[in-house]
Amino acid sequence: SAQEEFWDTARRHLIRYGRGGFVPAIIERAEGAHLYDESGRMIIDFTSGQMSSLLGHSHPAIVATVRESIATLDHLFSGMLSRPVVDLAAALARTLPEPLCKTMILSTGGESNEAAIKMAKLYTGKHEIVTFDQSYHGVTHASGAATYSLSRAGYGPVVPGNLIIPTPNSYRSVFRKDGVHDWQTELDYGFAMVDRQSVGSLAAFIAEPLLSTGGIIEPPTGYFAALRKKCDERGMLLIVDEAQTGLCRTGDWYAFQRHGVVPDILTLSKTLGAGLPVSAVVTSDEIETTCSDRGFMFTTTHVSDPLAAAVGRTVLRTLEEGRFELTAQRLGERLRRGLLDLQQRHERIGDVRGRGLLQGIELVMDRKTKEPADDYGTHVTAACFDLGLHLNIAQLPGVNSILRLAPPLTISEPDLDTGLGILDQALTIAAE
Ligand code: PMP
Repeated sequence: SAQEEFWDTARRHLIRYGRGGFVPAIIERAEGAHLYDESGRMIIDFTSGQMSSLLGHSHPAIVATVRESIATLDHLFSGMLSRPVVDLAAALARTLPEPLCKTMILSTGGESNEAAIKMAKLYTGKHEIVTFDQSYHGVTHASGAATYSLSRAGYGPVVPGNLIIPTPNSYRSVFRKDGVHDWQTELDYGFAMVDRQSVGSLAAFIAEPLLSTGGIIEPPTGYFAALRKKCDERGMLLIVDEAQTGLCRTGDWYAFQRHGVVPDILTLSKTLGAGLPVSAVVTSDEIETTCSDRGFMFTTTHVSDPLAAAVGRTVLRTLEEGRFELTAQRLGERLRRGLLDLQQRHERIGDVRGRGLLQGIELVMDRKTKEPADDYGTHVTAACFDLGLHLNIAQLPGVNSILRLAPPLTISEPDLDTGLGILDQALTIAAE
């Protein structure tokens, strides 16, 4: 059949790049929060593509922007500027607190983190990069060196000078006082280890304000201020990576705002392009000036691309006009209530966590021992897909028990409820 031929050709000609293999469907069309396979079957998208399609698939404003941009100004020499680039940089600055006012437009998340790490090295004159032990910042060499939620086996040597501290996971941390997560001791311990392992060249800490791929883990209140203090004491910069959390998804424009700290360098990607390859690095005038004085070079093929910048500008304008931070709060509350309700009825939901429209459930064999329910997680996602819902599993090596729910901000309430209903059924089917 035509389908068998498709999969046969895929097997013969595609490089397999993902742990779980390919989803067994041929997707032909996507619109809003809906995916359609070749038979016309509709699947609700709870991953927003690769956590990117913030406004749903083929949002009319994005379609119009791409059409217009590609027909009038598609791509330029890396040192040539155009309106969309300067507009987007200024628009980003308006959404951000001081001193974050200087921007570079790139294409992907890993690339934005490479640039941020290079700037941190140039600015501090040091090279060590510290991160959480469940971090995800990309698959390129420096961003990959700062990524611990993927296996590192087989890719050595790793960029030297990367160090880790424990991820402040309130559900699982072994640092507890009277049963409560003692994150301050955990952080102190982490930095004591960093200080012992450092060769005296600490440049920056890179952090997601809510670790997504690492298991939907939001550092507790107060944690980031304490982390910022640790960085300041050591002359390290704080790089915050909001690939997934940035631009309203968590109910704030930026997830760092909730933590009461301002990063030295902010990276944005996935959500900035709402499904298209657009990323940005934002920093202060002081850091930018010093780097530029020291000869900062990051002339990628698609730096300052007018098309990418035009899309980013449309995404920001659409979010602003639609007050989408409020949408994420409202729908996030609905999603969370739905998940807590499921937890009442499904013994194996050990934890419900997240913020806004970035939520996760952790599946366990037993709520007391918290033994991960790995196969169950895999079966639940497969059952969801059969029933018409796509969601995915956080990618910690060897852990298949944390499901991530991140639908587009434009999803309708009925679709959100239908998705929760499918998850409910799938949790039952997979337990049988
Ligand atoms: N940072 C974070 C927080 C991410 O989630 C991702 C992608 N999963 C990246 C960086 C890397 O982005 P990209 O895949 O576009 O390189």
